[in-house]
Amino acid sequence: MKGRTVLLRVDFNVAVGKGGKIAPEADVRLREAIPTIERLLEGGARVIAVSHLGRPKGWDAKLSLKPVAKHLEGLMGRPVTFVGESLTRGKAVERALAGLGDGQLAVLENIRFYPAEEKNDPKFAKRLAGLADVFVNDAFGTCHRAHASTAGVARSFRERYAGLLVEREVAGLNRLLVRPKRPFVVLMGGAKVSDKLPALKMMLKTADRVMVGGGMANAFLAAKGWNTGKSRVAGEEIRFAKGLLKNSGKKILLPVDILAASSLSERAKVRVVPADRIGKGDYAVDIGVATVLEYARLIRKAKTVVWNGPMGIFEIRKFSHGTVSLGRMVAAHSRGRAFGVVGGGETITALEMTGMAEWVDHVSTGGGAMLDFLSGKPLPGIRPLMR
Ligand code: ADP
Ligand code: MG
Repeated sequence: MKGRTVLLRVDFNVAVGKGGKIAPEADVRLREAIPTIERLLEGGARVIAVSHLGRPKGWDAKLSLKPVAKHLEGLMGRPVTFVGESLTRGKAVERALAGLGDGQLAVLENIRFYPAEEKNDPKFAKRLAGLADVFVNDAFGTCHRAHASTAGVARSFRERYAGLLVEREVAGLNRLLVRPKRPFVVLMGGAKVSDKLPALKMMLKTADRVMVGGGMANAFLAAKGWNTGKSRVAGEEIRFAKGLLKNSGKKILLPVDILAASSLSERAKVRVVPADRIGKGDYAVDIGVATVLEYARLIRKAKTVVWNGPMGIFEIRKFSHGTVSLGRMVAAHSRGRAFGVVGGGETITALEMTGMAEWVDHVSTGGGAMLDFLSGKPLPGIRPLMR
């Protein structure tokens, strides 16, 4: 690696709080990226790290990776050069990188600031590839996306590798693809409903039971014709959920009760209501206590457990109990009793809040990527790395 320049795709997509602060339970993806970075730097490489952050529409200072680079500097105890220049403004990025020496690290600005990234534009991929000699993809959480910096860029390099995190993820998740022990239950929630419904459909083929919570549950409650109050669900999500209930209704478990809140803040008035009794003025913000008990009972009986997606808006403490209780349940039941796998950006943040993350057999940095991998889909970010 000495003297060579490595383009390293990492997943630095973490929650950045007010004033650019990153909470200790929210930086798991950064910590997981460090082993590969260290390995490359120790080998004498010049490392150019590339990541996205959030879902920006164009250049947006609020979603800059600058505070992330700063936080990484603290974690690694090494200087990190942040390159805020644009790739589409002549050779500005090259000029900013000119001073990068062997064994030094630079982080480029949010790659999703360029619309060409998500379009997997070949010209843009070439532009990126032109920066380096070697490509390493360690962004497992983004490997299910065929974007320029994950899939498009890879084939421009004769030398392209998977990073240590991708290797660890593939090894851990593979254990679920080869004859998982039954009962095999899946706990699914979160907010990226339209993204995850197709993955849920695939999981229904391999899992014995899929328990649904969070924003995802609202789509199903609406599909049953029930009111979800002020928690809005898109029409296409309702249609998709209806189809799933029709074809695999027996495998899908829905909340029997819901925490209804008057507003989305710590000061909200809350009450537990039956799932078909959410009022017009209510937000559905968490699963209810009866649901927690029922899901916990199923998790206890399982031999394989997969969890992706929070059961509620756990960032607000009042709405965090369903997520945190079931997170504890999954962790306590892992390591021997069942093979436990937990994944997803916000899901691992919630798991960190329980203080029990290390009890889980495999903590995956991928949400959508983990689900796609487990449904047996080839991941466009991994495919070009296999020869
Ligand atoms: P992950 O990153 O773990 O894959 P998602 O990105 O799909 O999960 O969703 C995480 C987000 O879902 C959390 O920020 C949480 O606040 C939100 N969420 C969970 N339940 C609800 C709900 N009932 N209404 C609105 N948002 C929800
Ligand atoms: Mg997320």
